[in-house]
Amino acid sequence: MTRDPATLLHEVFGFPAFRGVQKQVIDRVLDGKNTLAIMPTGAGKSLCYQLPALARDGCCVVISPLIALMHDQLRAAHAVGIRAASLTSVDSDWRETQDRLRRGDLDLLYVAPERASGEGFRALLREADLALFAIDEAHCVSEWGHDFRPDYRLLRPLLDEFGWVPRLALTATADAHTREDILVQLGIPHDGMIISGFDRPNIRYAVHPRDGLSRQIGDLVASQPGPGIIYAQTRAATEKMAEMLGKDGRREVRAYHAGMPPEMRSANQSAFIASEDMVMVATVAFGMGIDKPDVRFVAHAGLPKSIESYYQESGRAGRDGEPAEAHLFWGAEDFARARMRITELEDARQAGERARIAALGALVETGGCRRAILLRHFGESPPATCGNCDNCLNPPPRIDVTQVARKFLSAVYRTGQSFGLGHLEAVLTGTRNDKVAQRGHDRLSVFGIVEGEEAALLRPVSRALLLRDALTTNEHGGLVLGPGARSILRGEDEVALVLPPKRKPRAKKGQEA
Ligand code: ADP
Ligand code: ZN
Repeated sequence: MTRDPATLLHEVFGFPAFRGVQKQVIDRVLDGKNTLAIMPTGAGKSLCYQLPALARDGCCVVISPLIALMHDQLRAAHAVGIRAASLTSVDSDWRETQDRLRRGDLDLLYVAPERASGEGFRALLREADLALFAIDEAHCVSEWGHDFRPDYRLLRPLLDEFGWVPRLALTATADAHTREDILVQLGIPHDGMIISGFDRPNIRYAVHPRDGLSRQIGDLVASQPGPGIIYAQTRAATEKMAEMLGKDGRREVRAYHAGMPPEMRSANQSAFIASEDMVMVATVAFGMGIDKPDVRFVAHAGLPKSIESYYQESGRAGRDGEPAEAHLFWGAEDFARARMRITELEDARQAGERARIAALGALVETGGCRRAILLRHFGESPPATCGNCDNCLNPPPRIDVTQVARKFLSAVYRTGQSFGLGHLEAVLTGTRNDKVAQRGHDRLSVFGIVEGEEAALLRPVSRALLLRDALTTNEHGGLVLGPGARSILRGEDEVALVLPPKRKPRAKKGQEA
């Protein structure tokens, strides 16, 4: 068998050409250099270590965090005739696998990080000929990342003991900070980082503040033919929404979540894959590892976990390259809840989590191009406008609300940073109710300083201030000045509001939308 990469690609894998950065990654690995490959889901990461495993002498050790993932990969490798095995708690053929490794009868060996870092495994590797270490889901090594696994931190001594064996770290999801961490933790040089293009030009991105979610989602489902996925926040919400959407009987709607009986779950998944117009209401557990290229829309009923998750989940639309849509519905409560959860984390993880939420805030709040925000997050330098997102297609009018924002922040400060929006509104608009009078807040300089049209801006302004961390909430829901408040109060920063689109009149029952 010849071991030229292009020939292996055709003859073993049956692909006509390399995709994206695959060739670049594989060439570097075949040169024996340590590499970090950042490629979106579906870009073909596995080939980047499978092919070198065949082209180089010896076995490629693949470190992978999940047994299910390993077994999927094993099946795929066996299907194209690659000699592959795994050493996990559910494998019974350990002896044979170890013998095969020693004999040089394995191209790929899958193992979990906790096993890989153990002394027993290192002793085994000393008896084997190694081609490559592939570290899959490499963002798990970073505490900054969203999926930290302490076991990944223990890999370094293993990699260093076999320092002559090249390492290839792979991940789909890494912001700048996480990437830096992966390089340092795994001993990969800066120029060894290869990032593939993240743009999905056929996906049209749109973001909407929640304003009658059922109606909003109903309208979307009515106007979008073709298969679609709606991500709901909770298991209960998936079932409720599926029932609500299925009521008018125009489309088949099913639900999917991890709490369902397995038979029902897999029946719903198979039905969706086969269908040309089904809507699936699911938790984010749905879609991982399923291959349905013709999903025409993905909607999120609430804030995703991070920009990375959003990119990945919305990216399940339009795999076939045909036009597809991604809709995100959010509310200020989503941010409040996410921030509350941060306070429950260990200190080391709080900064990363806060940055993730701020990045989501920027995505939903922007009056500019959504795609540009997504791509910049992945380290690209996209043009300022894309022509295929809600804001590029319909640039929203913006108004400067810096003065109102300063008044609002002053009122928060003067009233002692412990009151909610309602009380602050009353103070600012000069409403002398009992609470205002009891606290003596009608004697404050900020009493009644907001008049006329400005009053209607207080709620959206408070929401914008929460999003940019100029306001935060205490455990009782009272508003407190945040780190972003200072520069606004000093007049160094402006606050602008994107005017919300006019609400569409509700379609009457029985009338076609
Ligand atoms: P990732 O791990 O990056 O999500 P996979 O390795 O699972 O992606 O590959 C995604 C799909 O793309 C698989 O079905 C794989 O067979 C296919 N694929 C990979 N490389 C190529 C290629 N060069 N040409 C065509 N298809 C490819
Ligand atoms: Zn755009």
